[in-house]
Amino acid sequence: MWFREALAGPVGNSLRVDQVIYHDASEHQDLLVFENETYGRVLVLNGIVQVTTADEFIYHEMMAHVPLLAHGQAKKVLIIGGGDGGVGREVLKHKGVEKLTLVEIDADVVKFSKEWLPTVSDGAFEDPRFEVIITDGVEFMRDSQEHFDVIIVDSTDPVGPGEVLFTREFYTDCQKRLNPGGILVTQNGAPFLQPQELTNSYRSFDLLFKHATFYAITVPTYPGGVMTLGFATDNTEALSIDVETLKTRFEALNTPTRYYTPELHKGAFQLPAYVRACMTPE
Ligand code: SAM
Repeated sequence: MWFREALAGPVGNSLRVDQVIYHDASEHQDLLVFENETYGRVLVLNGIVQVTTADEFIYHEMMAHVPLLAHGQAKKVLIIGGGDGGVGREVLKHKGVEKLTLVEIDADVVKFSKEWLPTVSDGAFEDPRFEVIITDGVEFMRDSQEHFDVIIVDSTDPVGPGEVLFTREFYTDCQKRLNPGGILVTQNGAPFLQPQELTNSYRSFDLLFKHATFYAITVPTYPGGVMTLGFATDNTEALSIDVETLKTRFEALNTPTRYYTPELHKGAFQLPAYVRACMTPE
């Protein structure tokens, strides 16, 4: 039996289903977890691959360490989405982080990720610094009075419940909730297949922040080649930081990584010309 992803119209990944572990509909989305010989356990939400135990380290390391090491003294961090706990696991490796809040719309994603994908969160949910709030991220950002040093939008794609997390209103509320020097990072898709998604985010970031850019990663189970993560901030130093400073901060982290390196951190912001061509102002 094969799973065929339905993200980008006429193209998509196919993964052999060696064993279905869990398949049910939550209040918000269809949840599927299956085993694949190459990628391990695969989490699928509404027909789109979210996480695999084999390559999740790439996305989760880069979503967490790039903003946190660029910021250098983040104490309060917010994750919107991220119910699998992978970004949370990496954020909590930063001992300077005093409070991590995760706002996830679907309690079932947290519940079954703990049960069926335990290596992804790897105990993060038990960390006393970690607070999980089950609600729509767009409502939280609109109503919250809290401020954060780093906001990480670890959302699904802009279809279904994730759609509201790609709107200008949402980004405007994120900007209001950032402390001075704060950084917003977003899951921003594969521009070869979803160029308009990047252009739309860029235009909002460009209006709201002094610096609006992206950094690139490649994740085997996300189709379309280069995947971009949005990086928006008024903190000029966060972007101009040199590799030596990043190395010092990374070494102090004293945690092994399998994808992130200080050199790659800087290099990831060097984008292909076709990606830069999507970064057009309004
Ligand atoms: N790494 C994945 C990717 O790059 O697409 C994202 C993984 S994570 C599982 C995505 C999470 O976003 C899911 O748990 C989903 O329930 C959550 N989500 C979607 N829409 C949301 C919303 N409006 N508010 C909060 N969480 C949301």
